[in-house]
Amino acid sequence: MCKTHEEDVGTIHRCSCPECRREPDGEVAREHQAINRIIACTDERSRRLVAGFLARPYGHGGITRLARITGLNRNTIARGRRELDQADSRPTGRVRRLGGRSQARGDPTPGILTAL
Ligand SMILES: [Zn+2]
Repeated sequence: MCKTHEEDVGTIHRCSCPECRREPDGEVAREHQAINRIIACTDERSRRLVAGFLARPYGHGGITRLARITGLNRNTIARGRRELDQADSRPTGRVRRLGGRSQARGDPTPGILTAL
């Protein structure tokens, strides 16, 4: 199911956390690379679930940490974690807040001002 091209390293996010910068071949760096390799193989939904899952053991700082490692949005990871928790507690397949706020903030009224 993995659609990643092994040669195409450009698609895999590179972690730039202090640990990885200090020791690019260290144990931590290799773990972060592995995480990003997994992330690169997943679709959008699995991605945030995986990131949310990985953020869990770190507790409060987990989301920030995973955001830095994976380059994913913090809201995305937080949503993934919430989805995991919901799946745990109640098995109803309810989807809350489908399609939240989109940050499309372009011209609110295109054409109106130019119509002279
Ligand atoms: Zn790192």
